[in-house]
Amino acid sequence: MDNIQMVDLGGQLKHIRKEVDEAIANVLNTTAFIKGEDFKEFTSELALWNNSKHTIGVANGTDGLQIAMMALGLKPGDEVIVPVFTYVATAEVIALLQLKPVFIDVEPDTFNIDVRQLETVLTAKTKAIVPVHLFGQISNMNSINEFAIKNSLYIIEDVAQAIGAEYNGKKAGNLGHIGVTSFFPSKNLGCFGDGGAIFTNDDQLAENIRMIANHGQKVKYYHDVIGVNSRLDTLQAAILRVKLKELNNYIISRQSAAQYYDQELSEVDWIETPGRFEDSTHVFHQYTIKVKNGKRDNLKEYLQNKGIPSMIYYPVPLHLQKAYSGLAVKGDFPVSEQLCDEVLSLPMHTELDDHQLEYICSTIKSFK
Ligand SMILES: *Cc1c(COP(=O)(O)O)cnc(C)c1O
Repeated sequence: MDNIQMVDLGGQLKHIRKEVDEAIANVLNTTAFIKGEDFKEFTSELALWNNSKHTIGVANGTDGLQIAMMALGLKPGDEVIVPVFTYVATAEVIALLQLKPVFIDVEPDTFNIDVRQLETVLTAKTKAIVPVHLFGQISNMNSINEFAIKNSLYIIEDVAQAIGAEYNGKKAGNLGHIGVTSFFPSKNLGCFGDGGAIFTNDDQLAENIRMIANHGQKVKYYHDVIGVNSRLDTLQAAILRVKLKELNNYIISRQSAAQYYDQELSEVDWIETPGRFEDSTHVFHQYTIKVKNGKRDNLKEYLQNKGIPSMIYYPVPLHLQKAYSGLAVKGDFPVSEQLCDEVLSLPMHTELDDHQLEYICSTIKSFK
């Protein structure tokens, strides 16, 4: 079996190459590289697709998170609750704005925030929660919302891995005050470089977000607040318009690959397949298993030798990262620490066929 990839961007592009080429050529012909027609069209098409009143294109997901926190008026010293088992971007922007990241652990089966821990870290300075919808499944938003309302907290959803996932019929990004997604190439809706978007259903927040993302100005050369420069390139927006039309199909492809993995791997007694949360659909940005009995690293190497790539998302929880040391110590978040030793993400993309899936699963089962 040749050429199994973690993410097959080339294979995916083949199906839409003609439209993408035309879209790029069209931007080149107009030379409107900044906030051109495709930028406007894409953000309104995405707003419609996501059922979000406002969608604001930004330069990347990390910028989106930073702008979201600025738009909420969070001030130095304010505390923001984040899971320790996630990509670093979430905590990074909190720290950069001189807010305080307050870590909590995740659930061992869904990999998302363990809501029972919210109460234990609440202080008078707590201002916001960032639920990260990790690997494509939405966090326990009913409980998070209930807690946020009770304690007057903001919710910023990190939708970077979960665009299109639904929670009791509502799309990710509409379940808090602000939602932020990323169009990094390997994300479920990826562009060909960096890109991101912010969702909100609140008019005032949308105005703040637009202003902050645009140097703090509403009227050109009149700067009301300190802002940043963050926008989605017209070229990326043009490409994303083509891919947005395919997104529902992309999600279905990922879900059917996941179903295959589930069926084949749930019978393996040293593997745990990813847990599902009944209120959320799962769009499988990653299909992440837990490998028990200390076999993870050996399995990874075994698969590599058989031509099957796999990845460890994530090898180190945030509280054990050098940059964030001092906020907690080893042992504080045992679930995340154990996950970092056990998780293995298998190839997951829109182009996986049954032959590849069969080969991957039978190879895993042949490992002793
Ligand atoms: C990818 C990702 C981000 C950051 O997005 P960029 O566009 O790369 O800046 C943030 N949070 C999570 C959970 C991600 O997976």
